[in-house]
Amino acid sequence: MALAYSSKSAVAVARLATEICQFPVGDLGDDDAWLFVEACGVCGTDWDIYERKIGRNFGPVILGHEIVGQIAAIGKAAAVKWGVNVGTRVAVEEFLPCGVCSLCLSGDYRLCSRTDVRSNSPILRYGATSTAVKPSLWGGFSELMYLHPQSIRHFGFNGD
Ligand SMILES: [Zn+2]
Ligand SMILES: [Zn+2]
Repeated sequence: MALAYSSKSAVAVARLATEICQFPVGDLGDDDAWLFVEACGVCGTDWDIYERKIGRNFGPVILGHEIVGQIAAIGKAAAVKWGVNVGTRVAVEEFLPCGVCSLCLSGDYRLCSRTDVRSNSPILRYGATSTAVKPSLWGGFSELMYLHPQSIRHFGFNGD
């Protein structure tokens, strides 16, 4: 299902340089969702990436990895698995671990190499993944953010 939304996002396009870019919001799958971002922290790591002390080869990145928002659209399977629906408020962890390596299986998913900002291979992590990686909206300094099937969400917030 294609969504009618697009998102304005602050993209750290190069060292100490931000551009506001407009992205189409991609298709919705069965196992994923889209989030309306309501609030996002500014972390020391955001500054390190902005200065490119971390992630010299990340490419253009939407920073912001301490994210709260409301579900804008959600696939059928994700709604059942996550127990949420359109309008549910969630907080999202920055990590997008693989879910199958020994670190993930032992609960240390924060250390999974797929989501490690110090890894030399391409990673998936909110606030640290290039906008060249579809569907581009991988950070909280944005109107909308993609919720990957492996995202880790926390629920139970009141709507107010
Ligand atoms: Zn942080
Ligand atoms: Zn893993």
